[in-house]
Amino acid sequence: MIVDLKSISDDPRHFNLTLERAWWPDTGEDGRFLGLDGPLEASLSISKTDQVYLLEGRLNGRLRIRCDRCLEPYSQDLDCDFSFSLAASLSDDESTEVELEEEDLSVEFVKEGQIELDEIIREQVYLSLPMKSQCRESCLGLCPICGTDLNKTKCVCQQKKGHPGFSKLKGLRFRGD
Ligand SMILES: [Zn+2]
Ligand SMILES: [Zn+2]
Repeated sequence: MIVDLKSISDDPRHFNLTLERAWWPDTGEDGRFLGLDGPLEASLSISKTDQVYLLEGRLNGRLRIRCDRCLEPYSQDLDCDFSFSLAASLSDDESTEVELEEEDLSVEFVKEGQIELDEIIREQVYLSLPMKSQCRESCLGLCPICGTDLNKTKCVCQQKKGHPGFSKLKGLRFRGD
């Protein structure tokens, strides 16, 4: 959804979007983020004071993420708030160009006086991702030697060798009288 910054005044405009799973499908890339796991609810408000636009929002949904340890996908709740401001000046009359006065990560989202809400939401989803993703506390990960998923099966690589020397005594019998 594209919002023209000229339509924003000091009275905040509110946007509520429900982004379906297909909005950000798993592209099959071998990345960590694998797309949405159900609809993503996004509510944003944009207001303007002098030459500063304030964007505030909230995201709520579920994400598909690849576990760093076992590389299997898992689902994780997304529930985050964000807010940032854009310091901008609209140049005169015809031109709707927005000049940004400060370095801001979000500069790239302003094009010809318009912002693309979807892009902002994507960025916020990325920012919400954990530094380390782990499907569960107890994830055993992959065997570093053979690559077996140790959550599913055991492999022999890391098993300590048993003590030799215990010979089996089975079959030994004493005959009485
Ligand atoms: Zn895992
Ligand atoms: Zn192994």
